[in-house]
Amino acid sequence: MELDESSCIAKIKKLPKTELHAHLNGSISQNTAKKLIDLKKLKSGDNSTFDLNIPKLASNDLPGCFELFSLFHELTDSPEAIYLATCDVIKEFYEDNVLYLELRTTPKASFAGHMTQKSYVEVVVKAIEDTCSTVCQKMTVKLLLSIDRKRSVTDAEETMKIAEEYTTSTTKIVGVDLSGNPVCDARHLFPVLEYVKKAGLNLTVHISEVPNTFEEVEALLKIHPDRLGHGTYLHPSKGGSEKNYDLLKQLKIPLEVCLTSNVISKTVESYESHHFPLFRDIGYPIVLCTDDKGVFDTTLSKEYYLASKYYGLMEDDLFNHSFNSINYIFATEQEKCQLQELWKQQNNKNN
Ligand code: 5GP
Repeated sequence: MELDESSCIAKIKKLPKTELHAHLNGSISQNTAKKLIDLKKLKSGDNSTFDLNIPKLASNDLPGCFELFSLFHELTDSPEAIYLATCDVIKEFYEDNVLYLELRTTPKASFAGHMTQKSYVEVVVKAIEDTCSTVCQKMTVKLLLSIDRKRSVTDAEETMKIAEEYTTSTTKIVGVDLSGNPVCDARHLFPVLEYVKKAGLNLTVHISEVPNTFEEVEALLKIHPDRLGHGTYLHPSKGGSEKNYDLLKQLKIPLEVCLTSNVISKTVESYESHHFPLFRDIGYPIVLCTDDKGVFDTTLSKEYYLASKYYGLMEDDLFNHSFNSINYIFATEQEKCQLQELWKQQNNKNN
């Protein structure tokens, strides 16, 4: 008997999962957005000063998504709000049986909220520690610091220095991400990314999410990031250059793939024409992720369901996909082994 969508998703929910590409502010659910609006009103003491139109939280193209991010940023411009948002996002991933999460966020200085990039990071780390030591004890949560393409070199260097400092003093921050509106030129930031690698930090970069120039793609690949985000236009059948594709196959850098995000933001026409199967068919390392579960109203279980529906992944394939993705996390070999054990235990329990 064929299961309907919600029964399939309920079944997939039981699988232990790793989420490696989740932007904090894009992952805020409607429920949390409401709490953040209330907090904003409470803090301002004036109901009329802030008005976010909740129904606007359904986006339909890439510029629309970036408008939504700005709305969320208005909601998370104080330490209390960032703390609340981080705790809620972690709990929601945990409810979806995500047992390993690498959350990423762009540290923001907010003068209204009296935050510096560093204090922003401190609040997020505290929220991770508090949540994982109380309600989400079975879960491991790590943090990546994002550098927005639009940022100045000075701002990006500040982010990178915080990552460098924290990586030595805590195990919570495990690397740096390059993200932000993909149509913006990021060349001024390449020396910072090169420094990230030289400093021994893990690096993941959003690459070829829109048809960026072959030169930009090649330059990013040559920095040797440890993971890549999206890679929508990397494959030659999607307009990528043969030269970059050859380099990619040689480097085998794991690709973080976000199905719903790509379709809703219209960087990909449909699930059927998504690049997921092209990479899966050549045995390229890929990992399914949500990107922005709040903005795109998705869950990791739903992304797994879509992969089963459109690309024929069966129950065992989904477990293997999740199990294999442990290889691509930013962690020590010992941590990976511990997670693999946990995955096996959970799988035995489910069978
Ligand atoms: P934050 O870093 O503020 O916690 O999360 C939202 C930010 O993540 C956005 O402002 C944007 O810079 C980045 N982001 C979220 N989703 C995407 C995406 O699909 N593509 C790119 N390039 N950046 C994204």
